[in-house]
Amino acid sequence: MTRLLCSLLLLAAAMSGCDAASPTAPDAPQGSVLDCGRFTAQTSSAYILPYPVGQAATVSRTFEHGPPQGYAVDFLRPIGSLVVAARAGLVVEVDERWSDADHAFGHENHVFIAHDDGTVARYFHLTQAGADVAVGERVAQGQSIGRSGDSGNSTSPHLHFDVVERPCEGPWPQGPYSDACHNTVPVSFRNTRPHTCGLTSGVAYTALPQ
Ligand SMILES: [Zn+2]
Repeated sequence: MTRLLCSLLLLAAAMSGCDAASPTAPDAPQGSVLDCGRFTAQTSSAYILPYPVGQAATVSRTFEHGPPQGYAVDFLRPIGSLVVAARAGLVVEVDERWSDADHAFGHENHVFIAHDDGTVARYFHLTQAGADVAVGERVAQGQSIGRSGDSGNSTSPHLHFDVVERPCEGPWPQGPYSDACHNTVPVSFRNTRPHTCGLTSGVAYTALPQ
């Protein structure tokens, strides 16, 4: 049984694109944080997909990230693909220094955007010099904020998107990773095909007009 579980976990890892912080993530049962009852209904969700209307992306990993990233979503996106703000807010952190495909933890180029309710959206693995916004800038929902890439702890080009309950102290990478500031919150997206328990790995989602 243990061997079967390990095989499944290895398969999940092989299928995944990234984990922004897996080297220090707590060793918790995979999927244990998935609570379908916590997802907002799509029609009342504050979020849209983080790429332009008319484009589609396949989800490579969601709750398989494990806690505390259990509600993160990896979207497979070619390097240079536009990233848009899933929700309006204030840009609170930007890092675009690192080259693509160096696979080094901590080298995840990113944009963090704080929302009016105190939550923070995190857009990871942007391409080098791939941020189109600056700290202190207010962005509208759907506004282009940068371009996707393959920087940091990543095995293939993709966008890691998650929303945390509150901001962490200091610049990324903030530690320890067990700190509650890394707790992700469930997100549904109102401008795509129906989903009731978050997005599903292996499924392509088109960003539809609202
Ligand atoms: Zn990820």
